Amino acid sequence: MPQNPLQQHFRQPKIYISLPSQGAYNKPGTINGDVAKIPVYGMTGMDEIILKTPDALLSGESTVSVIKSCCPSINNGWDVSMLDADMVLTAIRIATYGNTIDVTHRCPTCKHENAYSLDLGVVIEHFTNCKFDNTVVLQDLTINIQPLNYKQSTEFKLKNFKLQQKLSQAEFVEDASEQQLLINGIFKELSEIQTDLYIASVESVQTGSTVVTERDYITEFLSNCDKVIFDKIKESIEKNQKTWQMPLFPAKCEECESENKISLDLDQSSFFGLA
Ligand SMILES: [Zn+2]
Repeated sequence: MPQNPLQQHFRQPKIYISLPSQGAYNKPGTINGDVAKIPVYGMTGMDEIILKTPDALLSGESTVSVIKSCCPSINNGWDVSMLDADMVLTAIRIATYGNTIDVTHRCPTCKHENAYSLDLGVVIEHFTNCKFDNTVVLQDLTINIQPLNYKQSTEFKLKNFKLQQKLSQAEFVEDASEQQLLINGIFKELSEIQTDLYIASVESVQTGSTVVTERDYITEFLSNCDKVIFDKIKESIEKNQKTWQMPLFPAKCEECESENKISLDLDQSSFFGLA
């Protein structure tokens, strides 16, 4: 096909980002080019339409399709490490609408509705400086922790979401013993999801000179090891999760002057749409 004469009017990268994970958790070939200089394009009109479909957003499909459109050097959005996901989405938002996002926030103290313009550069800087602590050492065991990827994280979130829905529906079951049975079942499933999440977060376990990476062995190990070991692993995973959360934005209420903190939710159509 001859070159499209309109090509010079195609999008150009707006910004370049350095992936916080440095691509360390991506299989070779899943990211093209320099992980420290990933080009990010603004969204197209079509991307915006895709993001307005709430179901597609919940399933992660639309986010993956927007990553494909705006970060072409990332081959598959599902593979994006959770260390990079928030940074990538924020960069896409910046490339499309600029550095700031306008939000409204109701002051919890005086209920006044404040309007703020938040600087998304703060998010980029936050993730640039985050460290992922991937090793837990316990006597003769070295446990390597890994972040989830976007696919795993979305699956866990979806399962969790569905169980929470079931839980709120259980409220309407009239028979008390039937209701208790239902609730017990849901809580059992919720704790299973939690365990699966810990299993997925263990990359390998080293004992002596042997490094175990087989999922089945790791699963068996986690269900049979001492509570002390399990708790240490859990603690490390939770610590990382906390470190890698979106930063909170300090916001002073213009009415009562109380100091509040605003959180931004990236997996939400409002984040990608113009206010
Ligand atoms: Zn206030």
